[in-house]
Amino acid sequence: MALKVYNTLGRRMEEFAPLRPGEVRMYVCGPTVYDYIHVGNARAFVIADVIRRYLEYRGFKVRFISNITDIDDKMINRAREMGISIQELGELYSDAYFEDIKRLNIKRPDVSPRATQHIPEIIGAIEALIEKGYAYVADGDVYFDVSKFEDYGKLSGNKAEALRMGARIEVNPKKRNPADFALWKGWKPGEPGWHSPWGRGRPGWHIECSTMAQKYLGETLDIHMGGKDLIFPHHENEIAQAEAATGKTFVRYWLHNEWLTVEGKKMSKSLGNFITVREAFKMCSPQVLRLFLVSAHYRSPLDFNKEALAASERRLRRILRALRRLISLAERDSLTPDDERLISEVEEGRRRFEEAMDDDFNTPLAITALLGVVKAINNFADANESIERTTKRRVSEMLIALLDVLGIEWTEGRVKTDREILEGLISILIDVRNEMRRRKEWKAADDIRERLAKLGVTLEDTPTGTRWTIEDVGR
Ligand SMILES: [Zn+2]
Repeated sequence: MALKVYNTLGRRMEEFAPLRPGEVRMYVCGPTVYDYIHVGNARAFVIADVIRRYLEYRGFKVRFISNITDIDDKMINRAREMGISIQELGELYSDAYFEDIKRLNIKRPDVSPRATQHIPEIIGAIEALIEKGYAYVADGDVYFDVSKFEDYGKLSGNKAEALRMGARIEVNPKKRNPADFALWKGWKPGEPGWHSPWGRGRPGWHIECSTMAQKYLGETLDIHMGGKDLIFPHHENEIAQAEAATGKTFVRYWLHNEWLTVEGKKMSKSLGNFITVREAFKMCSPQVLRLFLVSAHYRSPLDFNKEALAASERRLRRILRALRRLISLAERDSLTPDDERLISEVEEGRRRFEEAMDDDFNTPLAITALLGVVKAINNFADANESIERTTKRRVSEMLIALLDVLGIEWTEGRVKTDREILEGLISILIDVRNEMRRRKEWKAADDIRERLAKLGVTLEDTPTGTRWTIEDVGR
C-alpha cells in the first residue's frame, strides 16, 4: 500500500513519493538554545523521529537535518539575564538538548547546523535575493519585499491574508510594506554582530533555516517539519526566500504537528505553563514519555497529565511483559497449529500497524495494532509452555521491529530493569539487616550477610553506611 501524508501546502492528503526514488531529504526546525526543551518541543522532535524511523523501516534512505538557532532576541536577552556570553549560553543548552534527545531515544540528526557557523552562506543567500530584486537594504537592515513574490501566502492561506498577518508582527518605518520581514538586522549596542556588505549585524531567523536546509539537502527538500505555530510567518518566509532565489519548489511535503496542551492550553514558554523534559523524566521514564507523545495522532491535540502518563506506563509494561513471556518460553523443533496461528495473528498485526502508519503516520492506531500482537502472544503463552524455535524468533523479531519504529528499545529496557531490580533488592536486604542490628538481633543480621556473600555480594560496613560490591564470578 502507498504511504499517504497530509501536506499543509494545499491542505490535502497526498501520496508520498520523494524526488529521488528511495531517498528522503528531511528538515526539522530545531530548538533555540536559550533554555531546556519542554515537553511540547519534545512532541515535535519525537514525531519527526518516528516519521524518520518509519521511512527507514519502509526502506528509504533518510537524510535528516535539524538546526540549532543560537542567535536571536531570546538568546541575547537570556545571556544578559544570566550574565554569560551568548556563546556560553548556546553551548550550555545545546549540550542539554543533545542529552535530552538521547534519553528520549531520538536518533541524532545527520547534521545539526548552527546559525552562527553559517554566516557567510547566509550573507550569500541575502546577496542573491538583493540581486534578483526580492530584497532591499534600508539603513543597515535588509528586508524581503513580499510584494515581489507572487506565491507569498501559499502555505498559510492566501497572499492578502498573509500580508495582513505579516503587517501585525512588527511596525517598522524602514520597511516598504508593513509585511516585509528582516533578512539581516543592523547592529545595536550590546548585541553581537558580524561584518557584512550592509555593515555590522546579524541574520534574521527565517533566512537561517532556509539557507542551512538548502546547504545540506539541496534546492528541493522532500519533507520539512515543525509545530503548526511555525506555518506563519516562519515557514511562509522560508518558502519566499528559497523559491525567489532558485525559482524551484523548496519543499514538496510540509508536515506540521498540533500543540501539546496542559489543561487544554498550549504548553509554551510565554504562557509559563511548560514542563521541561527533565522535569517530566522525574514523573515517568523516557520510554513512557515517548510512548505518551505518540499516543495521539500528530495532527491532533494531546493533553499532558498524570492519568495519560500512567496509561502509557501500563501499556508499555504490558507490551514488554508479553515480549519477555515469549522469549522465556521453552523451545522445541516441531510446529503445532498454535504456533502457526500465532504467526498469522502477528503478521496480521504487523499489516495493520503498517496500514495505520501509511495513513499519515497514525500512531494511535499503530499502537492498537501492537496491542493486538501483545494479546496474541499472551493467548499463546497462556495455552502453551513451549514454542517452535523459528516461530519464536520470527514473532519476537517482528514485535521488536515495530517497537523500534516507535523508538521503544527492548534490549536496553530489559537490561536496565534487571539491574534496577537487583540494586533495589540488595538495598532492601541492607535496610532489613541494619534494622536487625539496631535491635541487636545479631544472628539474623549475620545470616543475611553470609547468604549474600555466598551469592558473591559482599557487604562492607563503613562510618557512612553499608556499601556493597558484586564479585565477578564469570559466566
Ligand atoms: Zn526553522
